[in-house]
Amino acid sequence: MQKRSTSTIIDSHFAQIWQQRWIVETEKRSNSRARVWHTPWALRPLTLYEGLPRHQATALFLLRTEVLGINAWLSKVLPDYDSACFCGPQPQTLGHLITFCLATTEARLKLIERTGSSDIRGLLDEQEKAKHAARWLLDTGALAQFRVAVEVEEENMEGWEALAGLHVVST
Ligand SMILES: [Zn+2]
Repeated sequence: MQKRSTSTIIDSHFAQIWQQRWIVETEKRSNSRARVWHTPWALRPLTLYEGLPRHQATALFLLRTEVLGINAWLSKVLPDYDSACFCGPQPQTLGHLITFCLATTEARLKLIERTGSSDIRGLLDEQEKAKHAARWLLDTGALAQFRVAVEVEEENMEGWEALAGLHVVST
């Protein structure tokens, strides 16, 4: 929840300053493809994350900023890191994963089925579509840090009981 002052005059003054700073920063980054730098001022980005489990919200944030730990990005920041995708020698870029990657076809089809589009950057400004974009990134399996979260999601918890083993011992 955003905290605001109780004065609308102070609020509007600082909102104006923040908006001017935002305009300057977005102009500096106008060549960036990351959606975050092309977000209209009127859009409140926090609303995009509402109701999402933490790992999906994080995936959405990574997609919007394109500070993504996929291989092409990692190869730019880590010496001797191989940029190749897990499907072959092509660099694992966001464009590759959403367009050409043979290993992520199923995730791509699910995304298209849910949103009617595979234009990943075009899906990141609407709450309903953005959550599917985040889901797509998780479904690709390209980000190792989310694999456990996805496994936990998929685990069948039916019949699970806390400390079940102790019941067996005590009977
Ligand atoms: Zn690939």
